[in-house]
Amino acid sequence: MHESETSKDWKWQIANRISTREELEGYIELTADERAAFNGSIPLSFAVTPHYANLLKHAALRRTVIPTGHENALGTGELADPLGEEDHRATPHLIHTYPDKVLFIATTFCSTYCRYCTRSRLVGKPAASTFEQSFQYIEEHTEIRDVLISGGDPLTMADPVLDELLSRLREIPHIRTIRIGSKVPAVLPMRITGDLCSILRKHRVWLSLHFIHSAELSPETQAACRKLSDHGIGMVSQTVLLKGINDDTQTLIDLFYGLLEINVKPYYLLQCDPVRGSAHFRTSVEKGIKLIRSLHGRISGLAVPQYVIDAPGGGGKVPLIGKEQIHREGDDILFLNHQGNEYRYPDPMDYPI
Ligand SMILES: *Cc1c(COP(=O)(O)O)cnc(C)c1O
Repeated sequence: MHESETSKDWKWQIANRISTREELEGYIELTADERAAFNGSIPLSFAVTPHYANLLKHAALRRTVIPTGHENALGTGELADPLGEEDHRATPHLIHTYPDKVLFIATTFCSTYCRYCTRSRLVGKPAASTFEQSFQYIEEHTEIRDVLISGGDPLTMADPVLDELLSRLREIPHIRTIRIGSKVPAVLPMRITGDLCSILRKHRVWLSLHFIHSAELSPETQAACRKLSDHGIGMVSQTVLLKGINDDTQTLIDLFYGLLEINVKPYYLLQCDPVRGSAHFRTSVEKGIKLIRSLHGRISGLAVPQYVIDAPGGGGKVPLIGKEQIHREGDDILFLNHQGNEYRYPDPMDYPI
């Protein structure tokens, strides 16, 4: 296939991203619906690394990155900004929703765009450049302990830029934990170089990695995670629950055990946010609860993440354990967040359970 020495290099992978229908057709035969989606206007940026394109023979992965006509439909309760992040935007790069942690959107660039991206309103689009105002905000807000650097994908930034960002955050005395959210080990594993590992280790960074299916755990991805682990970097995973892709017990077990084997602790199983054009990816909340219940007690507790729903409008992440936590009102479910405030999530009854 598309193999050469240079394809092992992450900069080559980014420079040679597949971003048009014609390029994608060099890897995979498209369905009529997929081809039609490309001919229309695609609401969300499209790009896939050559590495990930070579995995698209797996039907599950294919659906998460190739546009379809479903994206043009606006589902019940769907919004451009489902988590109300813009209401909590403290500076051009900071979202401050929780008291002691802050989300630092360091870049809007991703090597590969997920079709269900909760930040589809921002990704692939230009962003403000200087971080200075954001550093000042964190310095002034001495209650902040934890900075979660996300995007876009921060690990697509060049080593010196990342090193400088992390150094600057480490100079702030009240910051105790720095995390980076990334899908790079799955979509661009060759980015995990010795130099990058040294930078992450130097600044004692935790990685929060996005994985959705065991088909992503290619030999290159496994090697990348083992390398990070060998450098002493702590890793957890976040998995979005996706209809027809990973919403069955065995698929989740295969993924979570596969992650543990490469020293990644399953952290969150996230109910899919109601971002516009994502209804075809969403399972019902009741099914999510059933699935997580099917894992508790059955497999290693280490392999079981927390099932969480991110309360629309900025209520934060709420762990769901039992059906008694949710209350149905028509097509919505209601539940309480950590402050005891009630939040509403669109969960139409016509989803097959
Ligand atoms: C998810 C999220 C965080 C981190 O939350 P944890 O539950 O600590 O992993 C921080 N800020 C925002 C805005 C988030 O959405």
